[in-house]
Amino acid sequence: MSAVQELYKNYINGHWVDGGAGAIAVDNPNTGEALALQAAADAADVDRAVQAAVAVRENRSLADLRPVERARMIQKMSAHISANKDRVATLLTLESGKPLWESEIEVDSAARFLEFYGNQAESVEGKSIPLGASYFDFTTYEPYGVSGQIIPWNFPLEITARGIGPALATGNAVVVKTPELDPLSHFIFGEAAEAAGFPAGAVNVLCGHGAEAGAALTAHPDVGQVVFTGSVQTGTAVAVAAARRVVPCVLELGGKSAGIVYPDADRAKVLDSVRWGIYFNAGQVCSAFSRILVHESIHDEMVERVSELAKSLSVGHGMERPIFGANMGAMVSEAQRARAEGLCQRAQSEGARAVTGGRKLNQPGYFFEPTVFDGVTPEMNIAQEEVFGPVISVMTFSDDDEAIRMANNTDYGLVAGVFTKDLDRATAAAQRLRAGQIYVNEWYAGGVETPFGGFGKSGYGREKGREALYNYVQTKNIGIALG
Ligand code: NAD
Repeated sequence: MSAVQELYKNYINGHWVDGGAGAIAVDNPNTGEALALQAAADAADVDRAVQAAVAVRENRSLADLRPVERARMIQKMSAHISANKDRVATLLTLESGKPLWESEIEVDSAARFLEFYGNQAESVEGKSIPLGASYFDFTTYEPYGVSGQIIPWNFPLEITARGIGPALATGNAVVVKTPELDPLSHFIFGEAAEAAGFPAGAVNVLCGHGAEAGAALTAHPDVGQVVFTGSVQTGTAVAVAAARRVVPCVLELGGKSAGIVYPDADRAKVLDSVRWGIYFNAGQVCSAFSRILVHESIHDEMVERVSELAKSLSVGHGMERPIFGANMGAMVSEAQRARAEGLCQRAQSEGARAVTGGRKLNQPGYFFEPTVFDGVTPEMNIAQEEVFGPVISVMTFSDDDEAIRMANNTDYGLVAGVFTKDLDRATAAAQRLRAGQIYVNEWYAGGVETPFGGFGKSGYGREKGREALYNYVQTKNIGIALG
């Protein structure tokens, strides 16, 4: 515990500063006790951060660099984060409730995003367009200048790295608004930016209340582009604020994603996918495997196997769960847990059967039982609404058409999966599933390199991969009349 500071400050224009809105009390989901204070930015702090970023835009100290120089700084940030993995992962576990091994994965992943986008900095090239002998015409990609990013609490470090990596690679300065529930470990980004030699104002990291600091950032007239990950409701407000100023916005919202399991599916692969897909991070994952659609001929077997898996997980304090295994941590807050419990109660009142779980654990900390619902039908709320907790719903289908229809039957469209040894069937399903990312025989198949984002209410724009770079630049065409 002594490694935890009393107060974590915001990082604005190269300085560590207090917040105009006082401080946010961050608690420890593993125990329910107070952990530390986080400086809370007000609108004036947000304005200072944006003005610092504007100065970087105007003096062109990032945009005019040879891209390899930005690449090297981003990679130094990555190295700094990796070098501090232990202390960052410990703090992340204490503020988020993740088991320590999950926090370590998240720190590695944050470093990996910066490594990847450091590598990409040199790869953004325009083209020349032939217009005949009288002209020379070419395109360049220019940064928007200031990227405003709003971060959720479920993978705070990873999502920040995912957004600032491509923004910096393409020459934008960034202002990041961190989540109220687990903002503390973000100190590492300010430290890393300094260690990497970024000019003051290129990387600003602040926390504050969404309605105050978040809203001030998304509505700020000098923010050129907005990146948001979180709920549909807040994402809509962010998109409206961006639209009012006619600036582009990337939205990564929720999901209610389904995996279709055919009778020939490799059982080990399905169970491994369930383990990672719904019980990693206690199910607080936008792309969670929250609906498992099983063929009627394997229904009983799958319900039994998935329930055995859920029951095998030991749920408790993240620091006591340092290595990967059959374990799960706390949910992030009392409110998120109460919401999950309410959705489970409603599922039961609508006729779904809790084969296991469905309740909170009777001990300090925000723990929730790994849960399996059977007998879920498409019209039930639990089949439509994102729980954002360790709750999987089993649904049954009898033929391909029904499976696809059920999988597509929500407002969302983030990811979908199909489990079968028959590649023809898998490919046909992949073509018909309405989602931004399709997993065949492994939930989360893909990586930092592959584009990620939603159809429908799961949002728009793509994160990750080379595709994401183009969220952060605008095309300029330069036509030269010769002679
Ligand atoms: P949220 O969408 O309210 O918060 C996400 C971020 O937006 C936070 O940093 C918050 O401070 C900020 N914010 C809030 N109001 C804002 C505003 N008016 N303008 C600008 N920024 C604002 O999410 P939440 O309350 O933390 O969680 C609620 C639900 O959202 C969850 O139950 C889950 O369903 C969903 N969620 C999804 C993801 C995801 O990865 N897709 C992540 C977190 C939460």
